[in-house]
Amino acid sequence: MISISAQIWFNLHNKPCDTRGGLWDSVKKAAFVIGSGILFLAAFGNSLTWHLQKVWGASGDFWQKLWTRLYTTFEGHDQALFYFGAMLVPTVVFGGTNALLMIVDVTAKPSFITRYRIQQDKNNPVDPAKLRNALKTVVFNHMFISGPMVPCGPELPTFHWALIELGAFALLEELFFYYSHRLFHQPSLYKTYHKQHHEWTAPIGIVCIYAHPLEHMLSNMLPVALGPVLLGSHLSTTCLWYCLALVSTTVSHCGYHLPFLPSPEFHDFHHLRFNQCFGVLGILDRLHGTDSKFRGTKQYERHTLLTSLTPLTESIPTSPRKDSERRVAAVSLKSLRGSQYSSVNYGVRSIHTAR
Ligand SMILES: [Zn+2]
Ligand SMILES: [Zn+2]
Repeated sequence: MISISAQIWFNLHNKPCDTRGGLWDSVKKAAFVIGSGILFLAAFGNSLTWHLQKVWGASGDFWQKLWTRLYTTFEGHDQALFYFGAMLVPTVVFGGTNALLMIVDVTAKPSFITRYRIQQDKNNPVDPAKLRNALKTVVFNHMFISGPMVPCGPELPTFHWALIELGAFALLEELFFYYSHRLFHQPSLYKTYHKQHHEWTAPIGIVCIYAHPLEHMLSNMLPVALGPVLLGSHLSTTCLWYCLALVSTTVSHCGYHLPFLPSPEFHDFHHLRFNQCFGVLGILDRLHGTDSKFRGTKQYERHTLLTSLTPLTESIPTSPRKDSERRVAAVSLKSLRGSQYSSVNYGVRSIHTAR
């Protein structure tokens, strides 16, 4: 949720008219992104506990009692408890989210969701053979590579400590994902490893972990798992973080810019253009200028939290200027045909044929 709420904050405060950059600007944004993410989670956690206690009559230490019951059920079987928390729960969350998205991708229905598609002429519906091929890699990566061993004990961490940890995880993920991802874009590594993930120039949710196993290990799992391992986090915090990270990456690949969800425009643009928008939150991209082309596009103008039901492709349509430019060019070429400038026309055609 840190990633998701942080992205919401970042999207809200990252208005298209703001074209300033610079190190200090990035540092301030990073502080606000993580801070507001923690505040959002704190408010959510407190209100959830309040409802459980007041509405459902749970006792004051509801979460601790729940954990103790779970821990004693698995007592002596730490390995099983680990697989339940770090693997099974995140898998159910990830699988459930993607099953819903795949119904939309495969059927290209319902239209009240497909109208939010970012690349409107793609995956309408998705190619079943291409999807089946991607699913094999996704299942292999998730079953055999995801999830390192993490420590767990009978005492739950305090909620405030868990929030601080989630903030640290988000920062570590941005740091390690950005640089490892850029490394995989080096020509020598790209061809062998990362090209597979970029087969999808218009991504869908499930292909978020469609990658070469080595890339999945180093660039997808390591940046997410590093936080819990370095901080020796509790299994409950790790479980929450894995769920949030998997849902967050699914949303950023889903191809639909849906209302009240974080904007997927940033990573969708990465799949479209390859050499822009390498990070998660966009902070390091601003720092290194790897979002410079993105910031001059319609996708950047749409890179905001959608708070109405009108798709952003309708409220911020692709520039009509380009269409009129194309019409002018077509008319010019037409008028040239058969005219005294037929040699120029021939020259233009030769250039197009040569490409
Ligand atoms: Zn991707
Ligand atoms: Zn990439």
